[in-house]
Amino acid sequence: MQLRLYDTLTREKRAFTPLDPNNVRMYVCGPTVYDFAHIGNARPVIVFDVLFRLLRHLYGDDHVTYVRNITDVDDKINERAARDFPGLPLNEAIRKVTEQTANQFHADVDALGCLRPTVEPRATDFVLPRADGKADMVTLIKQLIARGHAYEAGGEVLFDVQSMPDYGALSGRKLDEQLAGARVAVDAHKKNPADFVLWKLSSENEPGWESPWGRGRPGWHIECSAMSAAYLGNVFDIHGGGLDLIFPHHENEIAQSRCAHGTATMANYWMHNGFLEVEGAKMSKSLGNFVTIRELLETDRFGERDWSPQALRLTMLKTHYRQPIDWTVRALKESEETLQSFYNEVKNVSPGEHSPAIEAALCDDLNTPLATTELLRIWKSNRDPEVLVGSLKFLGIDLSANSTYISPVRRAIERAKSKFEDLEGKVKRSIADRAAARARKDFKESDRIRDELAAIGVVLKDGKDADGKPITTWEIAR
Ligand code: AMP
Ligand code: ZN
Repeated sequence: MQLRLYDTLTREKRAFTPLDPNNVRMYVCGPTVYDFAHIGNARPVIVFDVLFRLLRHLYGDDHVTYVRNITDVDDKINERAARDFPGLPLNEAIRKVTEQTANQFHADVDALGCLRPTVEPRATDFVLPRADGKADMVTLIKQLIARGHAYEAGGEVLFDVQSMPDYGALSGRKLDEQLAGARVAVDAHKKNPADFVLWKLSSENEPGWESPWGRGRPGWHIECSAMSAAYLGNVFDIHGGGLDLIFPHHENEIAQSRCAHGTATMANYWMHNGFLEVEGAKMSKSLGNFVTIRELLETDRFGERDWSPQALRLTMLKTHYRQPIDWTVRALKESEETLQSFYNEVKNVSPGEHSPAIEAALCDDLNTPLATTELLRIWKSNRDPEVLVGSLKFLGIDLSANSTYISPVRRAIERAKSKFEDLEGKVKRSIADRAAARARKDFKESDRIRDELAAIGVVLKDGKDADGKPITTWEIAR
């Protein structure tokens, strides 16, 4: 089936033709690891996982390279490290923060049914020239300076936007408009206010690497130019991320990569997911509607959770990736009900072939809302459990992952069982206390314990066991 994708750069939906069908190459900007991922961060991860699965199906599992980086150098990370591990040397504290956060991120997105990318490079491994000769940030910056696209000023190396005639093509911003824009800080050392940082000097208590421009650290954008080139080459097929990354991040990645390599393009398809809002409002810590993936998947002491990860994923897929999503409890409940009705009928079925209608929907610029309605339509019309399970799997929804999908019925049984075990423990302890009270002839206490149990509906019966020893059994009062 012919895949068609919308390209933000050319603003059109086009047939997708990979540069090399034996190695389809995709780069997606990954998380900055300093805090739990929120449900908005889960959106690009799920969207590009659907695309990764589709590409693997179309071109073969071994013919797709998906790179998603981990940003482990960022001033927010430094602040978090100093706050959470004040006693440790900064580098150690930073490592703790980034490792913990990356592990949390993996656990969260694994639960959401996302395949791990082919490679997951960390920015800090690509700052300096590498033993394996893969692209690195310092070498890229040197190339930009050598080709007249970057200059050193005021303790920084800056990209010279005026050296690139079509700078701004992705976001559609013209340079003269940007001059007037208040968003770009006007710094006296810059040739042009839109010039952006490739390298900046670090103070002693900031992480830094020795470079030709002094001990410093990279600007935000250069890492993705280095890591994409390292694994995918100077020009590759698909570059993705959230809408907010179009400017400045992706615009600047394009500028750096094209100018350093002297190429006309960086990636052939630029894909951006829309934003997620919660109950109609922008998600923010101050509004108190900031929801992490972890919170949504949290279990109580009965192992009960409000939502299954599969329902989170289905909810995400019901909206087209380029549209905004309004994340609501109502939508989650609906998904949970749909999955429950499937689960009751297919829990032990192994996946068959997925439905061609669902593949066709995905091939049309990842039309996941159509794919999910097709899922329901097919199920209603043919009730073929193998096709249903195969189609769900094609969308990355695995109901057999029972450890994660807990049917509400099973949950209720487990909860009841767990409550019974709690009760049983308490009664046994009370019976032992009562036997001890009776042995020391404290009948007031033994009666008190009997009444206490009676009050919660437990009746004690004193008798004798096979050897004639006194024994107390219990039952729930009828
Ligand atoms: P960050 O860690 O903030 O750089 O974000 C990681 C990814 O999540 C980027 O691709 C962002 O565009 C994306 N993202 C952040 N917030 C949201 C949101 N509310 N809705 C959808 N995507 C988001
Ligand atoms: Zn990036």
